[in-house]
Amino acid sequence: MARGNYCWYNGKIFAVEEAKVSLFTHGLHYGVGAFEGIRAYKQKKGGGAVFRLKEHIARLLESCKILDLKIPYSIDDLCSASIATCKKNGFEECYIRPIVFTADGPLGVHPGANPPVDVAVLNWEWGSYLGDKGVNEGARLKISSFVRPHVNSAMTKGKITGQYVNGVMAKREAIAAGYDEALMLDADGFLTEGTGENLFIIRDGAVKTTPLTSILNGITRQTVIQYLKTKGISVTETRFTRDELWCADEVFLTGTAAEITPVREIDGRLIGAGKPGPITATIRRDYSDIVRGNLPEYGKGWLTPIA
Ligand code: PMP
Repeated sequence: MARGNYCWYNGKIFAVEEAKVSLFTHGLHYGVGAFEGIRAYKQKKGGGAVFRLKEHIARLLESCKILDLKIPYSIDDLCSASIATCKKNGFEECYIRPIVFTADGPLGVHPGANPPVDVAVLNWEWGSYLGDKGVNEGARLKISSFVRPHVNSAMTKGKITGQYVNGVMAKREAIAAGYDEALMLDADGFLTEGTGENLFIIRDGAVKTTPLTSILNGITRQTVIQYLKTKGISVTETRFTRDELWCADEVFLTGTAAEITPVREIDGRLIGAGKPGPITATIRRDYSDIVRGNLPEYGKGWLTPIA
């Protein structure tokens, strides 16, 4: 994982070691922050481009709205900052991490009516999020003993830093038990999502995904729903239980980092034939083409050149 040498911090490009963060940073103590995960890909026609940059930055600003944080940057400003960072780092294909957090200020829980906020953009090179084996042969998942907080405790529409403690605990539990990723149930026992991915199941050709009430509104999830729609396949957004999940023909995860990851086993039960299913394999192949500009008929304006 090669890190970019430069970052964007509060409006300027810095060498990463020069961008200092105070120990009095409110967000460090209380997890008040919002972030994004975005990928740039080398394009078929040459150069790099960022996939669905505007949608990611719009979600970042929505997360800030949920947290009632005011930042002096527009969507266009932060899109330009993301591109500038990739350019300065010389990356055509990388992961982009914009982050906003309550900055050095009063250190009580109450950060003040209009707390100071820092904004940064980092880059690194990132391969398969769930490992090459997971992506090629299918990942192995475990339903977590950690439950997604109630909708009035965690704001699922926000990609909020402190909320990820729940996911970190679940992920560590799953890895320690020998699995690749955890799946979280909600407080009523229905499936929600992975710690960094949305969840899809297929049974007899019918595609289902969990409803937006309990999950992050994933941009990869939106991309897959739109892609399947243009192929005449509708996706039902509905709650389902772990036994329905175990009995699916195919299961896959979606996420910017995880892209389209097939699932071969959940809780010791093989999914389908215990290898990536045919519909998942097609979605995965086409997603990989869409993000590299090989299928321009999908999503006009989805690719912003790093130029
Ligand atoms: N759920 C969670 C909890 C996530 O962290 C992510 C990654 N951002 C996703 C779903 C997938 O979202 P996206 O496709 O926008 O990356």
